[in-house]
Amino acid sequence: MPSLTTADWIARAAALSPRRDAFIGGRFVPAASGARFVTTSPRDGSALAEIASCDTEDVDRAVRSAHTAFLAGDWSEADPAHRKAVLLRFADLIDEHTEELALLETLDVGKPIGDTLAVDVPKTARAIRWYAEAIDKTYDEIAPAPRSALALVTREPLGVIGAVVPWNYPLMIASWKLGPALATGNSVVLKPAEDSTLSALLLAELGSRAGLPDGVFNVVPGFGAVAGQALGRHELVAKIAFTGSPAVGREFLRYAADSNGKQVALELGGKSPQVVLDDCKDVAAASSAVTWGIYYNAGQTCNAGSLLVTTPRVREELLERIASDTKAFTVGDPLDPATQVGPLVSAKQHERVTSYFPIAESEGGRYVVGGPDPEASGTYVAPTVIDGVAADARVAQEEVFGPVLVHLAARDTEEAVALANGTRYGLAASVWTGDVSTAHRVARKLRAGTVWVNTFDASDVITPFGGFGDSGSGRDKSLHALDAYTALKTTWINLA
Ligand code: NAP
Ligand code: MG
Repeated sequence: MPSLTTADWIARAAALSPRRDAFIGGRFVPAASGARFVTTSPRDGSALAEIASCDTEDVDRAVRSAHTAFLAGDWSEADPAHRKAVLLRFADLIDEHTEELALLETLDVGKPIGDTLAVDVPKTARAIRWYAEAIDKTYDEIAPAPRSALALVTREPLGVIGAVVPWNYPLMIASWKLGPALATGNSVVLKPAEDSTLSALLLAELGSRAGLPDGVFNVVPGFGAVAGQALGRHELVAKIAFTGSPAVGREFLRYAADSNGKQVALELGGKSPQVVLDDCKDVAAASSAVTWGIYYNAGQTCNAGSLLVTTPRVREELLERIASDTKAFTVGDPLDPATQVGPLVSAKQHERVTSYFPIAESEGGRYVVGGPDPEASGTYVAPTVIDGVAADARVAQEEVFGPVLVHLAARDTEEAVALANGTRYGLAASVWTGDVSTAHRVARKLRAGTVWVNTFDASDVITPFGGFGDSGSGRDKSLHALDAYTALKTTWINLA
């Protein structure tokens, strides 16, 4: 791809005409009520599109369409080789539409265009392609039954999957649900976050063009409390695959209990610690990983490394490097290819993140770098490091979901592990050490779904991702996700 300038991207943005209707039963349709909501760009507050606002009636139509498609069997009972071919085509179409998808994502949520081009869209295509490839390489089981019987253990698709996703990685997180759910023959109804509908609608169109039968992949834009809740309570939905906040995750457990007892998989937030120990061999690399780990996507990442824990001898040098590395981040227009940190997704999110500054100050926090910036416009927040708060301070315990790092000082390795494990969350953690035994010992002790050693945020679809505690119990990605969208069936055949 030729390298484009900010002006090129602005021109391309002006020429876009985003899809704005719901995608149900293989076509774009307005909400039955005719209601619409405006989605804006955090770049400049401008309106991007008036999106169909789905309510219970539209969700019901989408779920019924998905259910009818499931029963018809054109997808759920299709040959594995056919499902594979369709999903490979889907992945190819995503690649072919990289520029448009990246631009939609950048405009809608404010992610830097360099990131949506290099990370969000390619990783989305990769997830779909990887699960496509798995379809004709996974086998079921024959149980060791007596010779007078043949006992088969097969994986059956669940039916209609309700996927409810957040705005921070709209395409990628959708693909972590769609890939394994579609690969195993389910139908999907996707409810994107209200702040990030545009890329999901184009994704649905591409899936349809790739050959997904009508009704197999639907998108119902709208508000969480309305469209999300309707999906969570629908009697024909077999499973909710949710990524978002712990509070809303629990709402889905209630919806399930109050309706049909559907399965609910929860991928929730985090307060992920980076533990840098005295024997860290490369303090510069640790500083780079700590700063990228918190400032990437302006800190709006579920596994953002938002807590830094250090032991005494590495502390001073590391904090100095972090302060200077922080100042080197380029904050700016997300359509500028040089931007590394864009605006936060919305005014609401900006208010939430900046509300932590007075809280941190009242808790004894001081800014190593950054902090409130009276000059900042729009929804920008300066990359910030806070030091001096106690481990039980709110700012050290709660997910800020912005470019705000909190430092906690530990006496020794043992206390560092205790501080790292001292929140309600358990999504990810890292340890930086030059000693192989310490690395293994601490990695075992860290209560997190992913532990990195001497790196941060290294990831691929090949390994599971999810958490402990308030970070939820579901696991996205890897072959294990295929189990999450299937139920085991025993078929016992009498051969006597
Ligand atoms: P959120 O408020 O929980 O929203 C997530 C989704 O749920 C959105 O589609 C939202 O729709 C919908 N929703 C909201 N209220 C609802 C309700 N009462 N009933 C049904 N659905 C409802 O989370 P967010 O603020 O968008 O995202 C940030 C959170 O997601 C953070 O906690 C972050 O850590 C977490 N996250 C976790 C992972 C992971 O893999 N573990 C990945 C990314 C993000 P609306 O947009 O219309 O409100
Ligand atoms: Mg938006």
